[in-house]
Amino acid sequence: MRITKRVFTDLAILMMSFGIVTGILFPFFVLATGVPKTYILTPLFIISCIIAGLLVGGVNISLARYIVGKRLKLLAERMIFVDSKLSSGLSSSELSACTHDECMIPVDSDDEIGDSARAFNALVQTLSISMINERAIKDFNEMLSSQLEMDQLAVKALSQIVSFMNAGAGAIIFEQGGELEIAASMNIKDPHKLLKNDSVWNALNQRTGLKITMSRDITVESPLVSFLPVETRIDPLLYKGLPVGIIVLSAAMPFSTDYDYGYEMFLRGLALALRNAITYDQLQKLAANDPLTGLYNRRFGTLRLTEEFSRAARSNLPLGIIMFDIDHFKAVNDTYGHTVGDKMLVSIARVSRIAVRDGDFIIRYGGEEFLVILPGASREDTRFVAERLCHMIEDCSVKHNQQDLRVTISAGYTSFPENNAADEATLVKNADEALYAAKDAGRNRVKSF
Ligand code: GH3
Ligand code: MG
Ligand code: MG
Repeated sequence: MRITKRVFTDLAILMMSFGIVTGILFPFFVLATGVPKTYILTPLFIISCIIAGLLVGGVNISLARYIVGKRLKLLAERMIFVDSKLSSGLSSSELSACTHDECMIPVDSDDEIGDSARAFNALVQTLSISMINERAIKDFNEMLSSQLEMDQLAVKALSQIVSFMNAGAGAIIFEQGGELEIAASMNIKDPHKLLKNDSVWNALNQRTGLKITMSRDITVESPLVSFLPVETRIDPLLYKGLPVGIIVLSAAMPFSTDYDYGYEMFLRGLALALRNAITYDQLQKLAANDPLTGLYNRRFGTLRLTEEFSRAARSNLPLGIIMFDIDHFKAVNDTYGHTVGDKMLVSIARVSRIAVRDGDFIIRYGGEEFLVILPGASREDTRFVAERLCHMIEDCSVKHNQQDLRVTISAGYTSFPENNAADEATLVKNADEALYAAKDAGRNRVKSF
């Protein structure tokens, strides 16, 4: 029943009316108890009864206003406050603080008012969690879309996921050609052990995640703590239903289910980004490497050489280069066929890689002509590597029809700054001249420029 647009005004009208009616009826009730008319049916007594009824009504409405109204007002104020916070785009930390003091309502009764407070608090809590999830997903996706290189992508993604899930440690593993590799790890002692872990392989093969309570396979080791985690999650990263990797998270406390939604979104985004990073890596390799030998191709290798030469010239560091060519290679092809010739090239590339140090690189410069770049190598170092290459290639063989086929190479080398070449093209030209000198001198030898 509504009289005005204000509930408490309606209540006041009803309570006061009820007071007046009670005041009017009260004298007749007293008459019925046998009190003489002369005392009762006097204007003074009747007016007193009506005033008393009005007073009771007045006090009732004041009490209702004080007890119920106060709580409803608090509920309204908190709703407005939460609404203003949400629309002002508050940070996750503000939100979690909000869930405790500023936004929540104390539950101090076991009735409809208490139920409203409880329902409101639950609503704020759910809203906060959903906002934390949403914000984290947004930040995560922004990060993912700014990274293409696998290493950086994995390190940044792992750090965000570990902090979002409140984990103490974690690892991202990616799969390529049936092999697993650690892309990033945080606070895990000996992460490579994970690559042989049955649970990791199960999650990968069955494409379903699992939770392990008290994992004994993982020891979390950060600068401050070292512990056996209470709970470990192992989840596959699926792209179009196929696994591209695995994520492992370990925590000192069981994972909260509040962030399951955000976590699931993280995994989806991460799987796609990992897939992109793997494809990007493959494309990079395709663009940079010679498909037969896996060495740098001439176009990419020359760019790298230009970089190395400018670095050497700028920092006054030595740079050695060796050009080598297989001796009488045409005869190998003519005698044993092109396939055997290809095998020979692959084997020479493999041996050459072994003959040089990390940081050196080899370019397949022509069909059976190779350029070896040795940043930081002096003239003497370069000569030494060229000699070693000659010997190692001479010693290695390719099996064909029970025969061990061997070839030799001729090499020409030069080095900067002894050869004060103005650019890298001159260095290459000079190494080539030295190579021709080696060929002229009878092959299977090293000559310098
Ligand atoms: P030299 O000692 O003067 O270098 O003699 P050579 O026979 O090695 O030199 P030549 O330039 O006459 O022949 C090079 C041969 O290398 C010819 C070509 O068939 C072979 N070759 C170049 N690229 C490839 C390749 O990708 N695979 C195979 N199997 N052979 C190749
Ligand atoms: Mg040759
Ligand atoms: Mg040649």
